[in-house]
Amino acid sequence: MSDDQELGITESKEHSTGEWYAEVVRKAGLANYGPEGMSGFIITRPRGYALWETIRNELDARFKATGVQNAYFPMLIPESYLEREKDVVEGFDPEVAWVTQGGYEELDERLAVRPTSESIIAPYLSQWIRSYRDLPTRVNQWCSVIRWEATETKPFFRTKEFLWQEGHTAHATEESAWSETLTRLDQYEEVYEDVLAMPVLRGKKPEHDKFPGADTTTTVEALMPDGKSVQGATSHYLGQSFAEAFDITFTDETEDERVAHTTSWGLSWRALGALIMTHSDDQGLVLPPTMAPEQVVIVPIWQEETKDDVLTYAEAIASDLREAGLRVELDDRDEHNPGFKFNEWELKGVPLRIEIGPNEVEEATTTLVHRPDGESAEADRDGIVGAVRDHLDTVHAKLYAAAEENLTENVREASDRAEILGTIGQHGGYVKAPWCGDEDCEAAIKEPVAAEIVLVPFEGEESDTEPIHEGETCALCEDDAVETAYFARSY
Ligand SMILES: [Zn+2]
Repeated sequence: MSDDQELGITESKEHSTGEWYAEVVRKAGLANYGPEGMSGFIITRPRGYALWETIRNELDARFKATGVQNAYFPMLIPESYLEREKDVVEGFDPEVAWVTQGGYEELDERLAVRPTSESIIAPYLSQWIRSYRDLPTRVNQWCSVIRWEATETKPFFRTKEFLWQEGHTAHATEESAWSETLTRLDQYEEVYEDVLAMPVLRGKKPEHDKFPGADTTTTVEALMPDGKSVQGATSHYLGQSFAEAFDITFTDETEDERVAHTTSWGLSWRALGALIMTHSDDQGLVLPPTMAPEQVVIVPIWQEETKDDVLTYAEAIASDLREAGLRVELDDRDEHNPGFKFNEWELKGVPLRIEIGPNEVEEATTTLVHRPDGESAEADRDGIVGAVRDHLDTVHAKLYAAAEENLTENVREASDRAEILGTIGQHGGYVKAPWCGDEDCEAAIKEPVAAEIVLVPFEGEESDTEPIHEGETCALCEDDAVETAYFARSY
């Protein structure tokens, strides 16, 4: 197989989304599948990990600016700890991997590989927190967790082990804990929009789909081009159930003993899957400039007699851009022609290409080409830094606008079961309908078309997800509607 064939994406995003996604992940050098016998595990290659590091750095800076400190807890949790919150046991039991032996010795108590860490973090919050002066307490950890799901592996979307962050906080009052829950949801939304160039819908999960033990689970949801929703991140107000189970109490100003309110919140590398799925195309990976390991690639185009001039000119431009803090690759390889280089950097998702040939040198210009749509423009050599910055902003804006258009066009209303089923079947996307709050009414949609309620709006939230009008009836039964349900198929 020649290099050219190996570089090309052969699957179609529109017609075989799953195969196309797998091919982009592999050919853009992001991840490999794990060894045989370890289905569900992936190897994250340096280019894939670099993307995760950017998301991590962006979030980490926001957390630290708002009172969060990082810590690290063991990956193993004693079974007796896991059992202290009964909803956690029921919620995660089918997916927990267990360690039963250490070396040659059988363990007295088996140890869970963390599916999430509330049960090992809460007991220590309990030790650390004595008085109201210790509150709020906020810790976050960057780690991996394991959930032993038997579904088909999809790198970054569905893997048994995945990277994430999990934040855990304790507060004196419900108000403070709820405000924390929303602060983290705001930060997730901001990272999706400003860093990943993806609009999201925000709301809460229906009662029957909350995090086990939580009072309220809030979520940001992103719509993929194939009409399925991705749960982008969740932030949970845990109420007092964990604090009661793990004895997180404090003395208040009047020396009374009180039970804390806790939260937890997490974003996983599924964000990376959503990013790849949203922007990439049949030429390969497409990345917003904020995420791209190389924001700009300079491809010099020379003949033997112009090579020195072209390269000297290209190097000076690369140096100017690097000095300005931009991430730049100058592709001066001899062994590949410019066309090959264009294809390779398109596959790898570099947002902006600068072409430099003898004409550009002579006229003191450059040719800039946008990765998402191939639009090209000329920019003067003088002022190249400003021009590149403007074009990178334009690329981000184009990507965001395309994703926003997909979202806006794919939120539809329906008023009865047939209409919900028909709309999801025909268009995918979100279908919003008045809902009584009963899980049985969701089942009437879930069974035939595998769509579920991915979100319901917050009360009073100013957004696209406005609450239900009074006096409406559930689209699926005769009862009064209490919420607007957003049905969608999801990843
Ligand atoms: Zn109903």
